[in-house]
Amino acid sequence: MRRLALTLGIVCAAIACEPTGETTTEEASSLIQSEKWWNSLPRPGYASLEKVGVFGAWFEVYQLPDGTLAIYEPYQFQEAISYLVLGSERAALIDTGNGIGDIAAVVSELTDLPVTVLLTHEHPDHFGGAHAFDVVAVFDEPSALERISAGVPNERARGSVSGDQVWKPLPSGVDAESFTVPGVEPTQLLADGDVIDLGGRTLEVLHTPGHSAGSVCYLDREHRVLFTGDHFYPGPLYAFGSGVDIDAYIASNDRIAALVGEYDHVASGHNEPWVEARVIPSVSDAFRTILDGGGEFSERDERRRYRFDGFDIIVRKDLLE
Ligand SMILES: [Zn+2]
Repeated sequence: MRRLALTLGIVCAAIACEPTGETTTEEASSLIQSEKWWNSLPRPGYASLEKVGVFGAWFEVYQLPDGTLAIYEPYQFQEAISYLVLGSERAALIDTGNGIGDIAAVVSELTDLPVTVLLTHEHPDHFGGAHAFDVVAVFDEPSALERISAGVPNERARGSVSGDQVWKPLPSGVDAESFTVPGVEPTQLLADGDVIDLGGRTLEVLHTPGHSAGSVCYLDREHRVLFTGDHFYPGPLYAFGSGVDIDAYIASNDRIAALVGEYDHVASGHNEPWVEARVIPSVSDAFRTILDGGGEFSERDERRRYRFDGFDIIVRKDLLE
């Protein structure tokens, strides 16, 4: 395998995942965002899920097995998904979406349990609603803590609520002229191997740098689910921005691939909430195929979009030369 010191900005399902980075709405090309992308919704994976309802005219909530709820934002291009995991003593909210809708209000309708927010990483489409909660836990990685603390000012956040990024009216009181993502000061710092006990239900912290330095997955061994944030989702993974060493990404994926006997499903951070675990080992293979010069791709604007079974990878062409 060619060893490339390339950096990897595996961003999200969409271009605005990192409004603090170099990717902007203006850069979006048809390689990344198809025109009227919302016409392909709903995604097929939702047909087999029980829809709990629509909340706040912005979130759709779906029931997953074992007392887990997926809180989905289908009207914004990121199609961010947060998860409410219910124990007997506490609930965990894994990620908090873009901060466009009032996710705290949704959570209060879904449970009376005290809530611990568990962030998967430091991108604003995941910590957008965290400021509204009293207990917020984040992996202890300095650059990640800095970004979460800083938040995103209007000039960089407004793109995520403008133009083709949204296809339904914004919630009442939200507009592009004033939208920001508030910073958050975590109340709890997490380390690799920590186990969060919700009462009859535990989540284990797995540090999986690659998408970002502070990325983690949360493993529920008993109920055989891995919550992956942006480490994996069924959609185009972006390998062209600022971010992370690709070798770290592959190493992290190798780690969770080795654990694939411990979980049957992946609850991902974007697009669809319930993905069969067997896709995970193929992610490492896909990156290695690209680095070895293989794979089928289409090319535009100096980027290549490689297609694999269950996900794509978009790479900046010069990183492969
Ligand atoms: Zn991200």
